[in-house]
Amino acid sequence: MEITLPTSGLVIRPGKLICVGQNYARHAAEMGSEVPSQPVLFLKPSTALVGHGGRVLLPRQSAEVHHELELVVAIGRGGKNIAETDALNHVDGYGIGLDMTARDLQSAAKAKGHPWAVAKGFDTFAPLGPLVKAHEIQDPQNLTLTLQVNGEVRQTVHTRDMVFSVAALISYSSSIFTLMPGDLIFTGTAEGVGPVQDGDRMEASGDRLPDLRIKVRRES
Ligand code: MG
Repeated sequence: MEITLPTSGLVIRPGKLICVGQNYARHAAEMGSEVPSQPVLFLKPSTALVGHGGRVLLPRQSAEVHHELELVVAIGRGGKNIAETDALNHVDGYGIGLDMTARDLQSAAKAKGHPWAVAKGFDTFAPLGPLVKAHEIQDPQNLTLTLQVNGEVRQTVHTRDMVFSVAALISYSSSIFTLMPGDLIFTGTAEGVGPVQDGDRMEASGDRLPDLRIKVRRES
């Protein structure tokens, strides 16, 4: 899937989706995890992206797929070893995303010390709403996001509760991966993750961020 970077107008297929685990203390607690001392990163393939109005396909390999509501940062200007103080200047836009997770597969992987690539990387496991220009978001640490499933509120995310700020995540990520225009950072979820079923409707909204609506279907 290609995305439109709202500030530059560049239409691009994101090269990498950088995701952050355990970036909210109460979510780390519900997963039985410690709050990490540095960001916990993992990657999703760009084939996991699905846009507003699309659908998440529940794969045959999992019986328990969870929603994780997250603020997503789209990189405009790339770089390596970006300073935290300069990091927000590299953001082109912000949007709402869902880090869909095959929780049963992830739990099994965690127990064996295996990577999360399968549990996190299925096709359609990275819904992403339209992006808003970065300058329209004065403070990415002062946003509230809400996810409803079938009209019922399931998750509320206050970005002020992030363990590592957007700027810190950009800086840290760029110390490992060269960031490129169109790269996306899924900044982690708050507590309240839970399962979705065939036929569910997910609707996410947030301050000044475009809505994201996604249907859920079981893979046939
Ligand atoms: Mg997540």
